Amino acid sequence: MRVRREDAEVALAELLDLAPGGVEEVDLGDRVEYAVYGPPGELPALPDVEVAIGDALVEIVTTEVEDDWSERWKQFHRPVDVGPLRVRPPWEPERPGAEIDLVIDPGQAFGTGGHHTTRLCLELLLTLEPGGGLVDLGCGSGVLAIAAARLGWSPVLGVDFDPLAVEATADNAKVNGVDVRAEQVDLRNDVAPSATTVVANLLRPLLLQVRFNVVPERLIVSGLLRTEADEIARDYRNRFGLTERQRAEAGDWASVLLLRGD
Ligand code: SAH
Repeated sequence: MRVRREDAEVALAELLDLAPGGVEEVDLGDRVEYAVYGPPGELPALPDVEVAIGDALVEIVTTEVEDDWSERWKQFHRPVDVGPLRVRPPWEPERPGAEIDLVIDPGQAFGTGGHHTTRLCLELLLTLEPGGGLVDLGCGSGVLAIAAARLGWSPVLGVDFDPLAVEATADNAKVNGVDVRAEQVDLRNDVAPSATTVVANLLRPLLLQVRFNVVPERLIVSGLLRTEADEIARDYRNRFGLTERQRAEAGDWASVLLLRGD
């Protein structure tokens, strides 16, 4: 899928709904290309067309590629440094001086820490006093859950509806020597598990559907476009009595820290 740079974040948000496992991003100058890979028969048979997503004109091209993409995608996973943390794939080196070195192999799950929304969650997480239980809703590769466990939260639970994400989170927790439980939960149907602190790097439609039996004291919501953050903050205030305390933004994306009460 190729799209003008100014429309890229919006198109990507839509695309991630269809391909929650993540997409490959290639910089084409004034345009950006997003690629989704799949074996023959598993991708929708799309003609080569131009379609409109919102106001964005998007060009879709389908091609057969050599069977080396499982190696090629590695060049898109670079180390990410946020404060004292480095999040890196196994094939990248430690950052000298990084206090906390996290090795995250995304496998086929979403999340190497590199996406703006993940980074913003890490930034907000670092502003909190660690401690008590934490739940990571939509844990993907487990990057947020594992970072939280290293920072001092306990017990930590990661949930995702994708079995590959549950598996990746459990595997990555083991590699990083932390205690993180991973479970399969579909947040569209099930009540969200809760803890004193919850992080939810999901997209707007799902955030509007999330339900709690026990409302967390501290909740970080992410996966939002800047233009969507006010709506979600209002919705969470009305439904859960949570109040916005802090907002972090990067690119077109926003994350919001919400606290219980006023
Ligand atoms: N927390 C990770 C991944 C965020 S991507 C990070 O910050 O990098 C969003 C995750 O939500 C994906 O792993 C996707 O599989 C999961 N997800 C999407 N819809 C879901 C649903 N209905 N129930 C549970 N998880 C869902």
